[in-house]
Amino acid sequence: MSIKTIDLFSSKRHSFWANVSDADWSSWAWQLQHKITTLDQLIEIAKHDPSFKLDVEDIIKTQTEFNFGITPYYFSLINLADPRCPIGLQALPSSEENVKLDNELLDFPKEETMMPVPGLTHRYPDRAMLYTTHHCAVYCRFCTRKRKVSNPTSTLQTNQILKAIEYVKDHPVIREVILSGGDIFSFSDKQLNEMLTGLREIPHVEIIRLGTRNLVTMPCRVTESLVNVLKQHHPIYIHTHFNHVSECTLEAFKACQMLRKAGCVVNNHTVILKGINDSAGDIEALNEKLIMMGVQPYYLYHCDLTYGSHHFRTKIHDDLELVRGLHKHTDWSHEINVPHYMIDTPGGGKVELI
Ligand code: SF4
Repeated sequence: MSIKTIDLFSSKRHSFWANVSDADWSSWAWQLQHKITTLDQLIEIAKHDPSFKLDVEDIIKTQTEFNFGITPYYFSLINLADPRCPIGLQALPSSEENVKLDNELLDFPKEETMMPVPGLTHRYPDRAMLYTTHHCAVYCRFCTRKRKVSNPTSTLQTNQILKAIEYVKDHPVIREVILSGGDIFSFSDKQLNEMLTGLREIPHVEIIRLGTRNLVTMPCRVTESLVNVLKQHHPIYIHTHFNHVSECTLEAFKACQMLRKAGCVVNNHTVILKGINDSAGDIEALNEKLIMMGVQPYYLYHCDLTYGSHHFRTKIHDDLELVRGLHKHTDWSHEINVPHYMIDTPGGGKVELI
């Protein structure tokens, strides 16, 4: 019997949710309603699972204003017996977040200083990025926008979104709009359709890019109804954010396949994170799976100097060694599985280093 690509991907569901129906488990509404957001919920799971070795005491010590939230789907990818599990480290608060270094900034990319109207960063002449919502399925502990993501007051009101679209309309130099957040797939299909329709009515907007980590943290968000909306507004580029090979599950594979069949281009950016994916082997394993999923490994980022993220940050010198390691392994897929290595500069935008 021949092995198909799809056979190389698998699903995981923690036994805590063993009795949940498949229909509920694959519903994004159910996943959001059952997000783990409190320590009491974590303690309940720990009581149920004798393999649970995570340091709940340390989580309690974390004084963070940044929300804590994990979908049952993403939680199931955590190896609870391993306090250094790459998925757990990305999603569970740690007291390291309390440490704020002098060189770390609240708004490292200086997005707020380049906003002609609320929410719209216009840094590069031909491109604008619209921050739309504070919602994310999972709050990643290394998030570069933690200053506003998870804060309800940062979400744009409908009239502010309309003003931002008006600004784009008044600036024919803008050819590309990135809808970001938070997670743009946090909106309903109807709301998303309205935004995309507004942008598509502007003749000079050629490309629309959607920034979402839902493919990683809640892939069941990609439904027939969602792809039917996206199909109407091509070209649509999806920028997603897989950081580790364990995130490449069967569910993620299927979600990416649906988006590709609907004609979307799916690109990935990965942030190099200490102890999570900081070796050439980690990135190679991830990129091989991404390619099988039809996702282009596009950018490899150095972790931004965002406050409370020092424990994730590698050295640029080590990142460069990692990328050189990727280049050494030349094979058929070399051209497509070595992403551009980028750093964000404070206020100066992205710079490609290798
Ligand atoms: S999904 Fe993106 S915006 Fe949301 S917390 Fe994670 S990194 Fe930040």
